[in-house]
Amino acid sequence: MIDDMNVGVVIVGAGLAGVSAATGLRRRGFDRPITLINEELPLPYDRPPLSKELLCGDRSVADITLHNAEYYEEQRIAIKSGSRVCGIDREAHTLRLEDGQPLNYSHLIFATGARPRHLPVPPGSAPLTRLFHLRELGDAMALREHLAHDRHVLVVGAGFIGLEVAASARRLGCRVTVLEAGPRVIERAAPPEVSAFVQQVHQENGVEFRFGTQVLDVIEQPGSIAVHLASGEALAADAVLVGIGVIPNDVLAREAGLACDNGIVVDQHCCSSDPRIFAIGDVAKSFNPLIARHVRLEHWESARQTGEIAAATICGELAVNASVPWVWSDQYHLNIQFLGWSDPRAEKVLRGEVGGPGWSLIEVLDKRVIGAVLINAGRDRRPIERLITSRHVVDMERLADTGVALKKWVVA
Ligand SMILES: Cc1cc2nc3c(=O)[nH]c(=O)nc-3n(C[C@H](O)[C@H](O)[C@H](O)COP(=O)(O)OP(=O)(O)OC[C@H]3O[C@@H](n4cnc5c(N)ncnc54)[C@H](O)[C@@H]3O)c2cc1C
Repeated sequence: MIDDMNVGVVIVGAGLAGVSAATGLRRRGFDRPITLINEELPLPYDRPPLSKELLCGDRSVADITLHNAEYYEEQRIAIKSGSRVCGIDREAHTLRLEDGQPLNYSHLIFATGARPRHLPVPPGSAPLTRLFHLRELGDAMALREHLAHDRHVLVVGAGFIGLEVAASARRLGCRVTVLEAGPRVIERAAPPEVSAFVQQVHQENGVEFRFGTQVLDVIEQPGSIAVHLASGEALAADAVLVGIGVIPNDVLAREAGLACDNGIVVDQHCCSSDPRIFAIGDVAKSFNPLIARHVRLEHWESARQTGEIAAATICGELAVNASVPWVWSDQYHLNIQFLGWSDPRAEKVLRGEVGGPGWSLIEVLDKRVIGAVLINAGRDRRPIERLITSRHVVDMERLADTGVALKKWVVA
């Protein structure tokens, strides 16, 4: 069955990773059928603008669509929208759609992404119309209707999504309070110096923060919503956005007996414990030879790259996922980019001046650059990426000196 020329690659999930795999296959001359199955109804779109330009009204739905319908037709990529895969038979190389339809595959790619983590809600509670999570286009459109001048928005979680929504809501004239259980903003990704700076910019823009705040419960009444805190206090608002992380959509893979560990475990070629099955994007926990361990990244660039790697591997190329993690976030006038890795033992080198027109905090371990946070300093991304991959010994003084070009002069 699987050698039948009519059986091809089936991709479950048509986010950036799934689309990148499909287009990557065609670009490499893959000639068999490609089917993209997506639970969501709209044509595949880009997610980063959901918390930024789309929420603020600067970009439309059409602007964030990855490709138009004609493109998929030309590329002979079949899209089954509004269709959910609910089971896999690995022996028969078949998957089952919710409507009962079976579909054969020669190779299967999981690109099922992740879903937002929810606050615990008492069982049997009525759906809350003023409580939002932000993952899909529909979430952004619904939230947008509640962001108007002088409305009070509570943001639960001071991670990337929470802070981006806070910045967008302030732009739209809302009053914004951010509730964070931890001691500082973007604690998981940023060193304390960067957290302090980002928090200060938010405060200058009118955002109020409450740290060490545990939300226990959310209760909606006609016209408002209130959160109950562990301190006993209740805070009322017009809308609540919850941004407390995501959970990988790996249930199907687990049920099919694939190795999973907070995501589908794959090797450096994006291949799972079954050689005909791949996993890419937010759902994949991939082996990265640069650090010799598995990591699950929830970043746009990783979704794009792993899609390409799976496509290349299926086409017989020896492609390896050994890239330096890169994620960006836009908040107010700030473009914040995180590169590489962080290590508590690393020395931090400040390049530029905190709050200056463009500055970076670079992490150096054993005289080698391992990671960096760049604030309005995107021009430094490529050179720092090269320093991380080359593992060159660097001269710390020159690294800190903005008068010295990063390209080669910082190498000791
Ligand atoms: C609001 C927001 C802002 C972001 N901003 C940034 C940013 O500024 N910078 C950055 O680097 N990254 C950002 N990201 C992260 C980045 O967008 C994601 O890492 C990327 O979209 C992941 O792509 P993916 O294809 O792996 O998953 P997804 O885009 O989540 O796509 C997975 C798709 O699979 C579908 N699916 C799941 N299960 C099934 C099933 N059983 N059957 C059929 N379909 C299924 C889902 O419905 C979904 O459509 C942002 C994410 C969000 C949500």
